Amino acid sequence: MSCRGTQRRLEVDHERPASADLEHLSRCPECAAHRGLLRELYAEARASVSEPPTPALLSQVEGQARTALRRAHAPSPLRREILLPLGIALFALPIALAQGWLWLSGLFLLGEAWLPAPFLTGISVFYVATVGLSLGALYASLPFAVAYANRIQPETS
Ligand SMILES: [Zn+2]
Repeated sequence: MSCRGTQRRLEVDHERPASADLEHLSRCPECAAHRGLLRELYAEARASVSEPPTPALLSQVEGQARTALRRAHAPSPLRREILLPLGIALFALPIALAQGWLWLSGLFLLGEAWLPAPFLTGISVFYVATVGLSLGALYASLPFAVAYANRIQPETS
């Protein structure tokens, strides 16, 4: 019987060793000391009872949690919730610009022969200004629409 084998079996169950191990323990002081060490370790592990947290520690942890929650809910104008819809909506901008350019090109192509140039330029400037104002107002209203949708979300769900 080897010491290594006996000590491994003792680590699995040091309280009720097999008869062969008991016989080895009676002769081998090293393995007997190993069993003694295991008894001490298990006794210490059983005796160590976790202490409840102190009120000071509890208030410290609560303060940290409150700070973290406040930071998570702090309103920020550049939040992902607003930037993502705005970025997606910007994909429509080239389409709107191309449509405006096509419309003005058509106007000049058809009207050049009958209408004076200052009149065509005035109509073009008016068209570009009104479309620009409309698109600007639309994109400016998007963050407010997203914020409003997020505000009423908890009430509807
Ligand atoms: Zn031994």
